[in-house]
Amino acid sequence: MKSRTLILIWLISLVLLSAIFIFKDQIKTELIPALSELTDKMNTDESTVGQNLPESIQENSSSAFDENFENQPLNYTLPTPGTPPVSYWRPPLYEAPWALTPFDHFYFTRPIAADEVNWPLADYRYGYFFPGTDIVHTGIDIGAPRGTPVYASASGKVVWAGYGLYYGNDDPDDPYGKAVTIAHDFSYNGDRLLTVYAHMDRVDVTVGQEVEAGTQLGIVGLTGFTTGPHLHFEVRLASNSFFRTRNPELWLTPPQGWGVLVGQLRKSDYNFINYQEVYVRNKDTNQTWMVRTYGPSSVNKDDFYQENLVLSDLPAGDYLLYFDYLDINYKHEVSIYPGAVSYFTFRENIGFKDKVPTLETPDAWNDMILTDDFLNNNSIKP
Ligand SMILES: [Zn+2]
Repeated sequence: MKSRTLILIWLISLVLLSAIFIFKDQIKTELIPALSELTDKMNTDESTVGQNLPESIQENSSSAFDENFENQPLNYTLPTPGTPPVSYWRPPLYEAPWALTPFDHFYFTRPIAADEVNWPLADYRYGYFFPGTDIVHTGIDIGAPRGTPVYASASGKVVWAGYGLYYGNDDPDDPYGKAVTIAHDFSYNGDRLLTVYAHMDRVDVTVGQEVEAGTQLGIVGLTGFTTGPHLHFEVRLASNSFFRTRNPELWLTPPQGWGVLVGQLRKSDYNFINYQEVYVRNKDTNQTWMVRTYGPSSVNKDDFYQENLVLSDLPAGDYLLYFDYLDINYKHEVSIYPGAVSYFTFRENIGFKDKVPTLETPDAWNDMILTDDFLNNNSIKP
């Protein structure tokens, strides 16, 4: 009896060990999906792009996050990169300032040159929250190798240069690292515009210096809370404050022929739907983007659009937008136009609407009454 039990235990152990050996790849994938996803991406990049992402992106950021960023209002850990770009080629940008309607304000050129990747990292856009925390991202991140020149997005005066943008007093532990703020020569609705450039290894300007669009401000680096070299870029309105940011994707000129999707997702009680994953698929190419709605705090919506979702750099064309919210699958067709904003609103249990608020009544959508006709045509429920 005793020896049979021993043999049984031995057999079970053998089966378990074999199973672990045979399925180790799947186990690895399930235990550390982010890492294996990243490995896949690195491999994909080599074949499709011919150039690897910066090495430091490979670093797993979770430990640094746990140690340093718990209960911090800011987070600059570089997340697992999103869908890698299919190609590094992009159309040239519209010349700043660019605005097809009175509501648009693409006033800034990109702070990284056009022959480099100069668009936002897809997985950590403005308003994103680090999962399970209340840490918010108040800018966009542009992945770039260390040493890449950082340029002023428009003319203005340097009002901050060096450490301490968040904590003050040249604090070398400042989450922004070595940073520059420019107060621009122009304003929006009477409020001064500012832009912030953070995590630089070197700052090349001094406070009080006048700069032009394209003046080099420093180089991309690793200072502050970051695990990989990238430029953190912010747009601020009225004052040089962490609490006065706007979504930079509404302020940087689009590539020519490309447009920007802006949306607002609300529950039936009109509260905003936070952290909602929304997919946007180009009907011609099937290329698909994922964008999340903003988290609930520290980010500011555009004065006019009152959005909680922005997805810039979309080639003009027809798209299918879809997402699951509380077990219901919603779909909506959107068209992206060259150099323009395409706007939609969604309300739970009601559906979609494409019309932007009118200039005369900027918050007219608040009283939006949707007809049955509209609802039948725009809300798809299984
Ligand atoms: Zn950032």
